[in-house]
Amino acid sequence: MTRILFHGGHVFDGTGSPPERADVVVEDGHILDIGIGLDGDESIELEGRTVLPGLFDCHVHFLYSGDLDTLRGAMRPFSLRYFEAIANMAATLRTGITSVREASGSDLGVKTAVERGLVAGPRMQISIAMLSQTGGHGDQTVPSGACFTWQHAYPGHPTGIVDGPEEMRRRVRELIREGADVIKVATSGGVLSPRDDPRHGHFRDDELAVLVAEAEAAGRAVMAHAQATDGIKAAVRNGIRSIEHGIFLDDEAISMMLDRGTWLVPTLCAPRAVIAGAEAGMQLDAAVIRKAHEVLEIHSESFRRAVDGGVKVAMGTDSGVGPHGRNLEELGLMVEHSSMSPLDAWVATTSSAARLCGVDSRLGTVEPGKIADLTVLEGDLSDLNKLAERIWGVWKEGVRVV
Ligand SMILES: [Zn+2]
Repeated sequence: MTRILFHGGHVFDGTGSPPERADVVVEDGHILDIGIGLDGDESIELEGRTVLPGLFDCHVHFLYSGDLDTLRGAMRPFSLRYFEAIANMAATLRTGITSVREASGSDLGVKTAVERGLVAGPRMQISIAMLSQTGGHGDQTVPSGACFTWQHAYPGHPTGIVDGPEEMRRRVRELIREGADVIKVATSGGVLSPRDDPRHGHFRDDELAVLVAEAEAAGRAVMAHAQATDGIKAAVRNGIRSIEHGIFLDDEAISMMLDRGTWLVPTLCAPRAVIAGAEAGMQLDAAVIRKAHEVLEIHSESFRRAVDGGVKVAMGTDSGVGPHGRNLEELGLMVEHSSMSPLDAWVATTSSAARLCGVDSRLGTVEPGKIADLTVLEGDLSDLNKLAERIWGVWKEGVRVV
């Protein structure tokens, strides 16, 4: 068995302790040892570089490629997105991300293709389709009668549109049958859906209670696209594990999240990506552009207050709304818009994200016995500039993939 020695660099173990000078030995896809003066069969010299746990992004959409243009979207061949996903997954891996939560789009075929090594990509937990009420964030029917849906129903991918507790029960069971690792629901309107309002809560408590009960019975956690204050509270009240976006958080919502141990995945990149797309000339509905501008400041402010209040944060970007591969820009935004230090942002991107995803016994820290997903960064962790260009190498289960 070949022992790989990562030699002469600093190690950030993911727990929040500052990086320290150490070697790491990897054998048979696992971390064997960490310390000074270790040896191995094959040595990788890391002077001036930092070894980190393989990074996480807890909110991506591989089947969307950052082109929000309505007409181009309508004219795009249906299956093209699967081929675009190959490039999107490779770009994500190149930026040091070895694990993701797929927040809707990818189905079991996409996940299996990566697992079988047909295409390169991060490990993924898939949600397949986002559950949305009629007229909600996942319902892209427009007044002309046209439907610009991201969520066609096809084998392995049920429709996400659902109304009423009994339909909800059946749909969650369908998603689990089709291989969903996590259930995604929209408990409020959103920015990219032209006909709803991010300040309105979606689904009633009877629907969310059934959703969570069915998910929990199958050992699945639930993630909620939740922007509206009452949509956030309904999600938390019903035991949903993570609030995605969390744009209109008030003090009561923050205290409910603290009581229930609910996670926040802020996706500060997301509204900025919509605004950047519009500025680059993408044709978007005027309501979408208006909503992106309206939420920008309150989103940052909510995030700042959540961090000050002590809410648990895991890194997620909503990549797919914007281009893939720029995921690590989220760390700079998190630090800029809260009291988080760069080290806190790295914890949110490693051990905290692994805890949110329930995989922290195997991933998320550099510790003996853990799977050898490792990312090597050129330079120091406290410098969050040009992170994508500074990813020097990426290992997945002890195999170099970048
Ligand atoms: Zn999303």
